[in-house]
Amino acid sequence: MILGEHLVAAVENLHLANRPVMLHTSLRSFGTAIDGGADTLIDALLAHGCTVLTPAFTEPQFGLPAPADMRPARNGLDYTAPVVEKHRPETVPYAVDCGLVNPRLGVLPAVLIRRAGAVRGRHPLNSFAAIGPRAAELIDVQSPDDVYGPIRELAERGGAILLVGVGLDRMTALHLAEQRAGRRLFTRWARGEAGEVRMVEVGSCSGGFPRLEPVLGPLARSVVVGASRWRAYPAQQVLATATAAIAADRHITHCPDADCLLCRHAIAGGPTTA
Ligand SMILES: [Zn+2]
Repeated sequence: MILGEHLVAAVENLHLANRPVMLHTSLRSFGTAIDGGADTLIDALLAHGCTVLTPAFTEPQFGLPAPADMRPARNGLDYTAPVVEKHRPETVPYAVDCGLVNPRLGVLPAVLIRRAGAVRGRHPLNSFAAIGPRAAELIDVQSPDDVYGPIRELAERGGAILLVGVGLDRMTALHLAEQRAGRRLFTRWARGEAGEVRMVEVGSCSGGFPRLEPVLGPLARSVVVGASRWRAYPAQQVLATATAAIAADRHITHCPDADCLLCRHAIAGGPTTA
């Protein structure tokens, strides 16, 4: 059993106190239960004055098929492929209080959005959620046309990216590095707040991000809690280093699937029209 004091010690060892922290977590990585679950991890960060930021994406819940008149080329999609059946009524727009999160993100984001004081961004497919002293500052800048604003704000405030038992393929900030290296972000479709169908910015394939390990690894501080390896990176340096690495070798982000259309189109520069 992992106790809160173990998590508190890890946060101290990683020098995270009073910083905003982008958190990507696998609770399973601990190999045993945490006393109090995801809340205990969030509490350990909040107790040190951290603001916790996490992806709270809702692509499967609120994504729409591509309208015929909103189809940018080179957008990581084959528009002729059959559309996957959806379970939600497509007339319901995303709302910050919808209470839904992509289950593939794990337990922690779903726990965080339900806590008192948590705030959530206004992006119908790739919202971020945050809690702590700077939560509103980070989240308020997010919009359907500025998906990674919260990461930019976190980096400008000396923030860290904390991987708890997960790999670089989970590090959402690397999509911002792709953008800074000159790639346009892909567009997908969802209802805006007024119910209108619109295009929104989203990230590409992250399956190749572990190939940035040799350049990003030296930036990380590392601790082990139970069976969980934690790595904390300074966000600003991650963005600068990854942006330079991608600019120097565009193919470094390609995932192991040689036929991946997302990777092919992203490496080519992303959508050609908007
Ligand atoms: Zn790929």
